[in-house]
Amino acid sequence: MPMTESTGGIYLDHHATTPVDPRVAEAVMRYMVEEFGNANSVDHVHGERAAAAIEAATDTVAELLSADSADVCFTSGSTHAIELAFSHALGTVEGSPLRVALSRVEHPAVIDTARRAERLGMATLQWIDVAPDASIDLNRIEGLLPEVDLLCLMAANNEVGTIYPVAKAYELAAAAGVAMLVDATQGVGRVPLDLSETPFDYFVFSGHKIHAPKGVGALVSSVYRAENNYGLSGSHAATPNVPGIVGLGIACRLMSQEGATDEQRLRGLSALMRAELRATVPDLVLNGSDPRLGGNIHISAPGAPNDLVVARLRNEVAISTGAACMSGAQGASHVLQAMGLPQDVQESALRIGLGRHTTREDVLHATQRIASAIASVRTSLERHNA
Ligand code: PLP
Repeated sequence: MPMTESTGGIYLDHHATTPVDPRVAEAVMRYMVEEFGNANSVDHVHGERAAAAIEAATDTVAELLSADSADVCFTSGSTHAIELAFSHALGTVEGSPLRVALSRVEHPAVIDTARRAERLGMATLQWIDVAPDASIDLNRIEGLLPEVDLLCLMAANNEVGTIYPVAKAYELAAAAGVAMLVDATQGVGRVPLDLSETPFDYFVFSGHKIHAPKGVGALVSSVYRAENNYGLSGSHAATPNVPGIVGLGIACRLMSQEGATDEQRLRGLSALMRAELRATVPDLVLNGSDPRLGGNIHISAPGAPNDLVVARLRNEVAISTGAACMSGAQGASHVLQAMGLPQDVQESALRIGLGRHTTREDVLHATQRIASAIASVRTSLERHNA
């Protein structure tokens, strides 16, 4: 889709959300308009077809992850899946709080859920620090495990794009008898994740980060066996979001077929963008470190507050000052704070996320606009302060 000024400019905020792939949208539309049956109404063909479509989607999700189809439970997204995982994990300990270790850079969907459990006296939390480049020390995790019931580590960070060694962490956790929750919302389809080799206890992801619609995701878990497609247990089986689930299935199939190649292409484009930005923006700081998501670029331009830069780019280039969940709030990023970055680096941080439809022309044009917005902000502040 051409991203012109009238559409809001070049879209480079794919960590926040992704456009629905037309191949996904076509199927979603069909399951809204033609195949509209309730998958729980198995008395007629409409319901039967809807139920069959969910089964097929379950298989494609499982295929992408080399998981068992029986472990796939559809949810309304990652936050819902994380809450289900926590509710299950909290039920695995008796008479004492669940001892949770989590990285300081987890998404608020994990952090807030863990903190709520802590407030209710149902969990105790131990925080795993990150280095200034956002990397994590597996030895530190290993050292904590004897005192932990549940380890939470994300597959890839939604701000600085760091890919975390979840498979190695799983080996350590499994050896110590500790359950593990992996938030793969940013990593799924982009980072190699093979649940047949590393059967994480709880694995969550969301459709809208992989070109499926918003409002659908999954918890994949061998310990959590859902009684229906929304993981709710009780006498009433919730009506499944058939179009969303079908869309998620197709998005996963596309990731199986194209995810690795696209990630490679994005790696090339982001390297180009970093080099161009470095050449055109004086004193540019590159935040985070490799391994990182192919489409992630996280920069700071000290002296150019990020809210002023994105305001100048409005309608031209869509980039972000932080995580989507924080957008609007403009609060300090807990990720950048955890990395211990200097204040002016935090205040001028810009997250750029390239995606499936980003072209080389988009990258070159956006780079030029971003560099000139930064220069303009710096000049006006220098004048103002002179
Ligand atoms: N975890 C990560 C790493 C995310 O990036 C997001 C969304 O921004 C979430 C969880 C929450 O996902 P959802 O919007 O599907 O609830």
